[in-house]
Amino acid sequence: MRPRKARREAARDAEKLARDRVRLAALEVGGSPTRPEEITSAALVEPIALSLRCLVCDGDLALEEHAAEAGLRVARLQCRRCGARRSRWFRIAQPS
Ligand SMILES: [Zn+2]
Repeated sequence: MRPRKARREAARDAEKLARDRVRLAALEVGGSPTRPEEITSAALVEPIALSLRCLVCDGDLALEEHAAEAGLRVARLQCRRCGARRSRWFRIAQPS
């Protein structure tokens, strides 16, 4: 295989893997508003969100916004390295 072709294919594979990771993350708990992660206190939103890694490059994430939305909490994050965004959804469980 010629080097240029190999490089092109490696780049394409990396893009495909990143897309797969984004798709899987949307299915896991906390990955979408229909499947929020249950927590006991709003104080947990930021530490949990900031413990996640970028789905594209595995870089550190910065918190862009912590908002209340549709009865849920959402943390919007952006990768410090590649700029990719991800969101994490939470529901604050009422103490019973
Ligand atoms: Zn990244």
